[in-house]
Amino acid sequence: MKPMLPFTRPSIDEQTIGEVAEVLRSGWLASGPKVKAFEAALSDYFGGRPVRTQTSATAGLEHALLACGIGSGDEVIVPAMSFVATANVVVRVGARPVFVDVELDSRNIDLDRVEAALTPRTRAILPVHFAGLSVDQDRLYALAERHRLRVIEDAAQAMGSSWRGRRIGSFGDLVCFSLHPNKNITSIEGGAVVGGSPEEVRELELHRFHGQVKSGPDEADTLFAGGKANLSDVAACVGLGQLKRLEEFNARRRVLAARYFELWGGDPPVRLPARGDEGHNWHMLTVLLPLDRLALTRRQFIEAMAERGIGVGVHYQAIHLFSAYRAMGYHEGQFPNAERIGRETVTLPLFPAMELTDVDRVVEAATDILRGAVR
Ligand SMILES: *Cc1c(COP(=O)(O)O)cnc(C)c1O
Repeated sequence: MKPMLPFTRPSIDEQTIGEVAEVLRSGWLASGPKVKAFEAALSDYFGGRPVRTQTSATAGLEHALLACGIGSGDEVIVPAMSFVATANVVVRVGARPVFVDVELDSRNIDLDRVEAALTPRTRAILPVHFAGLSVDQDRLYALAERHRLRVIEDAAQAMGSSWRGRRIGSFGDLVCFSLHPNKNITSIEGGAVVGGSPEEVRELELHRFHGQVKSGPDEADTLFAGGKANLSDVAACVGLGQLKRLEEFNARRRVLAARYFELWGGDPPVRLPARGDEGHNWHMLTVLLPLDRLALTRRQFIEAMAERGIGVGVHYQAIHLFSAYRAMGYHEGQFPNAERIGRETVTLPLFPAMELTDVDRVVEAATDILRGAVR
């Protein structure tokens, strides 16, 4: 029996592990020189823009919303299909998430449907670059400008992606990346907010550390009851080691994704996602199962793949159908693409340490299981 192939796995090199050991021996474990160095390296990567790390993209998004002054009584446009954090952060700052359906193949927010969802209370758009495929940034920012809305980009999955040759994060309003172990690079847990005016950047710093400003060696002031979301030097050290590998990791992901498309070139037994261009970082390979033509449920497919030693994920269910959002009045039938993706999507293995033969194995197993289940 071959070893279990998970749908994703981080690659941490021995050099990074050695550097983490040094940090642990140094006596300085919380935010210190490594966090400073990591933020400087990220800022470099994003063309010199300000970067403030946080303990997660979730914290980064929440603090970015607060930094823009978004709260009670405000509305924020969000896609109806994403990781639930995309909408949760809006609720957590006291605002209302207003869902808009996503496109079936790109999985990104359908920009044609945003205008119909705007009201006088709309303050911002919070789009997701799903699986690292950039939304149409030209259209997005033109729309935001036309309606005087802020953009808070959920770029949790888009580290190293670009839009028409411009790196995500190197332009735009506030752009939030995740450094969770499932993402393209990791700091164990972590996030980074790129961009913002000097005032917004200051707010990001205050929200991540108790609303506190140091006024001298013996004195600090607390401007408001801020939270606690500062990265540790241990995490930043991992992030520094990972950032050096980012381009290599993403190049590998592109090769592996291309292999899926090549093997499923003719008449694939699944619905493949939009391919994008070389700016796609292939954070995930998500496909739709044609369940209405199969004598097989998604759960049975996942179990059959697991029996063959292959891990399969689900990214994601439609957000508006979770209890917390149904309680706000959302219901079935409102966002057909999000709901269909929520029912049919599966995530197949894709991570830099995979071999091309691993892709062959996944495609063979999935094709075999699905062809055998056609009604
Ligand atoms: C992972 C993810 C998040 C949350 O990131 P954390 O760092 O785990 O908080 C938010 N949005 C999307 C789209 C994600 O994929």
